[in-house]
Order: sequence, then structure tokens, then C-alpha cells
Amino acid sequence: MTQQAQRTVLVINSGSSSIKYQLVDPDSGRALASGLVERIGEETGAITHKHEGRTTEITQAVPDHGAGLAQVLRLFEEKGPSLAEAHIVAVGHRVVQGGRHFSGPALIDDDVVALIEELVPLGPLHNPAHLKGIEVGRSLLSDVPHVAVFDTAFFQDLPEEAARYALDREVADRYSIRRYGAHGTSHQFVSGEVSALLGRADLKQIVLHLGNGASASAVVAGHAVETSMGLTPLEGLVMGGRTGDIDPAAVFHLARVAGMSIDEIDHLFNRGSGMKGLSGDNDMREVWKRVAAGEQEARDAMDVYLHRLTKYVGAYTAVMGGLDALTFTAGIGENDARLRRELCQRLAFLGIELDEAANEERADGARVISTPGSAVTVLVVPTNEELAIARQAVTLL
Ligand code: AMP
Repeated sequence: MTQQAQRTVLVINSGSSSIKYQLVDPDSGRALASGLVERIGEETGAITHKHEGRTTEITQAVPDHGAGLAQVLRLFEEKGPSLAEAHIVAVGHRVVQGGRHFSGPALIDDDVVALIEELVPLGPLHNPAHLKGIEVGRSLLSDVPHVAVFDTAFFQDLPEEAARYALDREVADRYSIRRYGAHGTSHQFVSGEVSALLGRADLKQIVLHLGNGASASAVVAGHAVETSMGLTPLEGLVMGGRTGDIDPAAVFHLARVAGMSIDEIDHLFNRGSGMKGLSGDNDMREVWKRVAAGEQEARDAMDVYLHRLTKYVGAYTAVMGGLDALTFTAGIGENDARLRRELCQRLAFLGIELDEAANEERADGARVISTPGSAVTVLVVPTNEELAIARQAVTLL
């Protein structure tokens, strides 16, 4: 029976008030179960567990991450699949900030925990929450190895000229200010899928991860040479609520002229800007509806979004000295045919020719959406960070 050969990895993405999880078979790529614990520490929390098309929803107070994960483990036993019967071999933890310490996945021990803790100042929103997930995970699932997979790892070997800011060298090094990137697990997974699909290892690729957070990467022969996120995930493309690139002097200006505090500016740039700030909506579907209704503000917001993307694709093509494949992924990249079409129109100078029908077709898998004669192959590749984490975990072990 194939069942005997099955092995699974429990992938955990622990946030400040949530735990997202998925039980993944790294060999078949199948998700056996998934779920979410929400509103940890609030008066009423919620747990959603999905397995074989059945969804179990529980509303109850979840005082802390330990209680949340304990409840999840009970749900696995009660609603299935049993972790033992699913042959769980590892737990994979998503960690956003790996700084300069991690260029690949790491088997978690006390030293690795200490290093992730050391990186809290560089990932103040994420790393403390990951540490909670790791702590409760290791205590409740102590008989399997735990592996940390870092969002920054794929960008650890960015060329120095791409990673270094033109900031005073001594200040930059003392305070670890450099470009670490983010979404690396997705960029690595998607660029790998493109190489496999096109049967070429030597590709010059651009991957556009366009979700609520958005980032671009330039990848040559499997190695990242540029990426748009920097010291933090604020830099780069226009996002749902984040500015992306903005002159840092805007911070001085808002502090001096508007009297805003650093925390207020942080909130404005990270949550109150991007598509939300430009148009009032951070969901592209809503923005397109308003474009259709003739709202100029919404159209202008789309144009700012598309202009920024065009600029990045042009810059990355120059950095790589050419472009073989341009790939769209994540919520917007995978679903928004109109955005893909409008971007490709702006990029026609590169010899890009979209196959309009293929672009409009709604499909689940990885697919080419350019014509056979297009000078650049354009693709849509669904990202799957959970599967990527599960695969990296078993490869490490
Ligand atoms: P993600 O962060 O990858 O989950 O992406 C979430 C974003 O994808 C949402 O905020 C939407 O803007 C966008 N999105 C999802 N579905 C569609 C769609 N059918 N058309 C346009 N945008 C979409």
C-alpha cells in the first residue's frame, strides 16, 4: 500500500495573535489538513480545522499560543487525520527574519532559538510571534524534529552590490542595515517550478509575488540577484497597505512639519498607504469595480501600481542583461487577468506577447500565458509556501 510510504510535515506559521497550520505530504504535495487559530489572547478566539472537505469551527477563548496549539492537536485526534497515522516526520516553522545567520533551513535547537531571538530587532513584528510558535510546538510535539524555514534565506547570497545600501558603512554594519528581502520561500519555490516547467536551469527570471504584500525578484540560474523588499518588507512595490518605495525624507518631513511620531509614521507607511491609501481599498477586486464605475481615483491608483511594476521589470531586466521568463504568483498575480494584461501591454517593448485567451482562462495549475512567439515566456504559477517549507524540512532531515 502507498499509505505505508507516506510521510507528512506539520507546517506552522505563528503570528502575534494567530497560528496558521497545514499538514503536508512533501512527496505528493497534498495538504491533508489545514486550519487557523485566530484572536489568541482576546475575549473570544476561533479555531477552524479543515480535513477531507469537512470544516470544524470552534469559538472559544484561546488565552495563549500554547492553548491554541493544544486545541489544534486535539482536533487532529478527534476530526482527523491522526498525526501518528499520517506519519508526521517533522514540524516546519515559517520564520520571516533570518538576518545574516541563515541561508537555508535550520534544525531547531536552543542555539537556533537564541539566534532567532537575536534577530527580533530586525523583525519586531514577526520573530517574537514565531518564537512563541516554536516554543509551544517543541513542547507539545517533542518527539519529532522542528525545522525553521526563513523568508530571507533565498536572498542571503544576493550580490553585495544589491544587498548593501549606500549608507555610511560603519553605521550600516553596526546596526545590520542591509537588504534582506522577504517572501523568499515563495520566490524560490516559484522560480524552481518555472525552471522545471520550461526544462531549463539557466533561465533569467523575474518573479512577481503580488498579494496583499508584494515583491519582485530577479533570479539567474536558480540564484536570486535582486529583490524588491529590503531591510523590512516595506520597500519596493506598491502593496495592499504599504507604500513600497518612498523617499526616506518623507519621514523627516512628516515628523517636522506634521508633528507625527515615529509610530504614527510607521503605521501610515505600513498600513494606511499602498492601494488602501491611494484608493481607499486594499483589495484589487474592489479597486477594479471602482475603475469600471469610472472612478478616477481608483484608475490613478492602478496606474501607480502598474508604473512601479513596469519600472522594476525594466530595472531587473537590465540587471540580468536579459529576460527569459516573467512569472505572476500570489493572490493578485494568480487571479487578476486584467492586471497581467495591462502590465504586459506596458512591457511590449521587451517583445512580450500575451496569449489573451490563456491569460483569461481560470485554471489552478502552473501555466504559460504568452504566445509561442513571445520573446519572454510569461507564466502564472500558484505559490505554495507550505509545501515549500515541508519540502525544505524533509530535505534538511
Ligand atoms: P494574498 O496575500 O496572496 O493572499 O493575496 C490577497 C490579495 O489578492 C487580495 O487582497 C486581493 O487584492 C487579491 N485577489 C484575490 N483574488 C483576486 C481576484 N480574483 N482578482 C484580483 N485580485 C484578487
